[in-house]
Order: sequence, then structure tokens, then C-alpha cells
Amino acid sequence: MKNEKEILIFDLNRLIRENVRAMTPYSSARDEYVSDGSEKIFMDANENPNENGLNRYPDPQQRSLKSALAGIKGIQQDHILLGNGSDEVLDLLFRAFCEPSKDNVITVPPTYGMYSVLASLNNIENRKVLLTPSFTLDVKGVLNSIDANTKMIFLCSPNNPTGNCIPKDQIKEILDHFHGLVVIDEAYIDFTTKGSWLGELANYKNLVVTQTFSKAYGMAAVRLGSCFASSEIINILNKIKPPYNVNELTQIKAKERLLMKNEVEHEVAIIIEERKKLERALRTIPFVQEVYPSEANFLLTVVDDAGKRYRQLLDRGIIVRNRSGQPLCKNTLRFTVGTPAENESLIKLLKEVI
Ligand SMILES: *Cc1c(COP(=O)(O)O)cnc(C)c1O
Repeated sequence: MKNEKEILIFDLNRLIRENVRAMTPYSSARDEYVSDGSEKIFMDANENPNENGLNRYPDPQQRSLKSALAGIKGIQQDHILLGNGSDEVLDLLFRAFCEPSKDNVITVPPTYGMYSVLASLNNIENRKVLLTPSFTLDVKGVLNSIDANTKMIFLCSPNNPTGNCIPKDQIKEILDHFHGLVVIDEAYIDFTTKGSWLGELANYKNLVVTQTFSKAYGMAAVRLGSCFASSEIINILNKIKPPYNVNELTQIKAKERLLMKNEVEHEVAIIIEERKKLERALRTIPFVQEVYPSEANFLLTVVDDAGKRYRQLLDRGIIVRNRSGQPLCKNTLRFTVGTPAENESLIKLLKEVI
């Protein structure tokens, strides 16, 4: 590890890009005048004054939605940033902290493809340190890849596409020895009993946790992702985010959904139950050679010939994900857990195909 001393001091001022530190953020009309709820005449934002429910710009800080989310997550609002999907949140992290053609990030494939895409888009070197064959972290490998320009390490837990959680002690080791940002992507956190890292935010200034409304909350179409971190990190992201990045329809629908806590929990419980059923059934299919244990809402399997099995399923109307192109994932198919009826159709079909 190079420049060890320098790396071990966490200094947000040293992590942030110079231009981001220096810039003045755009100040929107709704930033300058924050409604106190009383009747006012709004002549500040060049909107069409005729009410139709959507004629006004949305709240740039999504206060009403954030307050519901803060209550559910047990996190203060100033530790939350919301984005147009987690993808926007991840992109904001790159743009705030990584200097193009100078800085680098570390990812641990096989994992979510967007980290690598966003690194390319932002012209940031992506140092890939493969997971071990059992899909845990190569902690030494990760720590050895860090240098003075390493700004972020992306860890996905439960991981997509492998389905497992990264062991807690391994993540702790990274958090303790890397004082750039450790971004833990918890897109699938509601499907595991292993526990979120949100509770550790107070203990690690370099921890960033992202979650999404696209999976357990059943709201992939509204495009809403959340980022939880220290208020200092959130302030930096707020400074560079597009002012109205979360639209009004999304804010309304996501808040409604948050308040349907029992329905969401019920759906998640059924998906987990179905995952277990599907796992057992897949193990009885002769051409399925391995079903990896999953803490998410999908199952990664090794089959005899992924291309062939993918096409057989497609021809019969079931689309799964062929993940064979990913390292350590030769001949793998990823099955998202469907409704009980859909899962039954899949199993019936797999048995017919034999
Ligand atoms: C699905 C998924 C997301 C969700 O991204 P959104 O932009 O919020 O839809 C994030 N991370 C991982 C690992 C995912 O699999």
C-alpha cells in the first residue's frame, strides 16, 4: 500500500474534487423561498399559474418524502439524499469525488454493472479485484490496490448477481483501512436477515449506503434511489445534484408506498418464501449443477450450457438473465423470483425441457 499515512487520515476536503469544492451551486426559486405552508402568490419560478396538480416545480429537497423515509429508516433527514434511481446517486458520487483521468475506484466483480459503466463515463480508472470463488472479498487484494488516488470502493451486499452478503468482518476491515469512501449498495437489503449498514453510519465517516425503491418496494418505474451518509457528504452531493432531480409524481407515489409498510413487508415475505421453494425445485433439475444460496430476490445457478438453456426458456416465453459473461460466472443463469404462479410455470417448463 502506497502513501499509507496519507490514506489513513479521513479528510473529506481532500476527497472532494477541487472544482466541486470551489463551485457555487445553482440556486432555484424553490431553494430561495421555502414555503411555510401559508397561502402565497408564487411569481418567482416562471411556472404556469393554472393549477393542475403538477404545474409547480417539485420540492428540490423532497422534504415530505424524506421525512417519511427518515422515520422508517431511523435516520435524520440531513443524512439522506434522494436521486433519480440509485444510478443517479452513484453518478453523483463519481462526479463529486473522482477527478477524471486522475483518480480511481475499486470494484469487486462479479457485481453490479453500473459501477464500471459510471467509471468509464466519468473517465475514472476502475481497479477490479475479483471476489474469491466462494464470492467473498479478497480483502488483501482490495487493500493492496489502494493508492493515494483511490477515492471509492464499491461493495454490493447482498451482491448482484451472486446473491450472497459480503461478510461483515471483511467490510469492517475495508472501512478501517481505507479512508476514502466505502459505498455499500444495499439494493436487496430487505430480502436478507443479515442487517443493514445504516446503523454504522455514526461510527464510520467514510461509509456511504445506497438503497433503492426498485426492488423490495416494487417501484422500479418511479426511479427513486436513496443515499445515506454523514451530513457533510450529503451536503456535497446536494451541491451538485440537478435542482429538481426527483419529480413530483415520484415523490407522491414513493411516499404513498412507504406508508403501505404492511403490504410491502407481506410481499417481501412471500418473495423470500418463493425463493426458498424455487431454490429447492431448481436443485432437482438435472442440468442445474449448482444453485448458489441467496439473500436477495433472485437465484444464481450454474447450468450445463447457459446459452442453450437461455434460448430454450426464451422460446417458451420465460426470460432469465444469462450472466456467463461475468468473471467467475461461467454457464450461469440468474432467475428473478416471480409470483407463485410464474415460478410454477418456470419449474414446469424446466422439467419439460429435460
Ligand atoms: C437493481 C439494482 C439497483 C437499482 O438501481 P435503480 O437505479 O435504483 O433502479 C442498484 N444496485 C444494484 C446492485 C441493483 O441490482
